[in-house]
Parts: sequence; structure tokens; C-alpha cells
Amino acid sequence: MRFYPLTENHLISIDPVELVELEKRTIRKEKLDDFSEELLRSSIYKWSIAIDKTMGKEMVLGLKLADKFKEPHEIYFNKEGLINEFVRLKTPEDITSFAQKYGLLGIKAPDIEQITSTYPVVQYLMRPSYIFTGYDFSVFEPIDLWIWHIKEVRQIFKLYNVVKKKSSDEQVNELIEIKIHKGRLEDHLYEDGDILNSFFVHWTSGEQILKLPQLLEEQSLLEIGRYTLIKMLESRLFGGVHEGGIYTIGIHSGNKAFKVRERKYAVSLLAAIYYDLWKKIVDDINIYFCGNIKCGLPFVKSGRQKYCSDACKQEAYRIRHKEKERKDK
Ligand SMILES: [Zn+2]
Repeated sequence: MRFYPLTENHLISIDPVELVELEKRTIRKEKLDDFSEELLRSSIYKWSIAIDKTMGKEMVLGLKLADKFKEPHEIYFNKEGLINEFVRLKTPEDITSFAQKYGLLGIKAPDIEQITSTYPVVQYLMRPSYIFTGYDFSVFEPIDLWIWHIKEVRQIFKLYNVVKKKSSDEQVNELIEIKIHKGRLEDHLYEDGDILNSFFVHWTSGEQILKLPQLLEEQSLLEIGRYTLIKMLESRLFGGVHEGGIYTIGIHSGNKAFKVRERKYAVSLLAAIYYDLWKKIVDDINIYFCGNIKCGLPFVKSGRQKYCSDACKQEAYRIRHKEKERKDK
């Protein structure tokens, strides 16, 4: 497992990563090298099942650790700004260059027992928020997994932006909604189970986020949104951030003083990204939306920045320019 420093910058080594196009045939035939071969093969296999079952699509692109002839590189890892870089990744090429700089996200390949299980309870848990979120060393990650997390982070930014203010329930409802699930999960298994209605928070765009505790059922959607934001971030940080420390011996008023300084580490890149997001929210930052009408992505502003990236700045300029030309005609 790789440790990403969160409280101070230091040099870390990043394994080279490359984008691979996968077809069912090439997965089996591809020439892979020694120790990682089996690991890579089984990881690609498990992910292809998981992507099919959770998203109903074929896995086409993925990032894998490059072969042993490519040397790792070292970077001064600084979590500051990581979330901004992550949130604006759009194409597989953007994602690849980010991964080549920082490494793979560090998501555990799904358990084969879980993704092939026919038990109703296990099938019920067959959704990205369960399968895509375990931190671990990884050798392969589907591009769909990356895109899912990038979208999640964008949604979290938007949710934070809405619940930070005294938004109306209608405004919150543009992002999240409550759905009633009849019966309990176990009813599939035990026919004598009590039939209860449970309330679940969903993204308005579809996916389920969490089960609402009964205490909150009567609350406004704004309060529910605030609760959802915190719980989501807690669950993303869980198991991803570790405490550590170093000590120094200094001279204080003539005595040798033992002093401990706290350090924090993320066990994977994605945990470091979510930690950066968490810190930004704890620091009460404001979210801005990219001024390029074709983009509109949420981002954390630095200085007088109006656009999420230079590319968007240029695109917005071109759009304005065209608009002007059209009017002048
Ligand atoms: Zn933009």
C-alpha cells in the first residue's frame, strides 16, 4: 500500500500507468509480465463483470500499471489543489495524464464471490457506491470507475454549494430526492418479516445514496441534504486516512524536550482527493461554476479565476468572439 502525505509535502514514488483498450479477446491474449500477470488478469476479469452488473455496459477502457521496464517517477506530493484538478477531468486522455502524474486511485478490485453471487441481499448491494469504494493497492482500474468518482465529486460540490446556503427545498430537490422503499431488505429472504417503509436519499439523477434515519424523516430537504453531505464524506474517508507522527528532541528552557508532531496519510490517491475535498468544506470555502457556458463545472476558486481551466478560458473567448462576429454581420 502506498502512503500519500496529507499534512506535509514529501517525495513519493509513482508507478507508471498506461491506458489500455480492452476487448474480450485481447484480455486473454495480451502479453503480460511475470509477477503481476495473474493479478492483472484477474483484476481485469473482475472489473469487467462488475462494470457489466452495476452499470450495464461493457468495459472498454482501463488504466493499468505499466510494464516493469518503465521506471517509477518521484513527485513532491501536495494534496492542495488536488480536488480541483480531479473535478475537471473530462476525457480518458485527461484521466490518463492525471494518473500518470499521481498514480492509480487505489480502489480494490471487487470480490469475485460478491459480483457473481445470486443471493438477493448481495445483489441488492451490487451498486457502484458499494463496489467502487474500497481502498486498496490496485494494478488496474476501469475508466468507468474514474468517471463515476469524478461525477460523484462534482455532485458533492454542488450539494455542498446548495446546503451551505439557506436554499429552498425546491433547490435542494434539483440534486437529491427521497424515495420510499416498501418492505425491508430481508423480506426477500424471510417472508414473515415486518413490512416497513424505509426512506432513502437518492441523487435526483438516479443513484441511491443512503438510508435516512427515522429521526430525520420529518426534517426539511435542506437538513436532509446537510446530513447526506457529511455522511457521504465520512464514508469516503473511512478506512482511507491514517494517523501517524514524528518526534523531535529540542532544547526548551535548558531541558531536552520530546515533542510529537502529528502526521496524516491517505492509503490511496482517491482517499487523498476526498480528504482535500473534506478540508475545503471544513474551511468553509465557496464553490464557483465555470464561466464557459459549454462547461459549467464546479470548482474552488483561486484568485480571480473565472474558468475551471485554461482550456475553458480559451473556449469561452472563442465563443464570445464568434458571438461578436455574428452580431457585427
Ligand atoms: Zn470549465
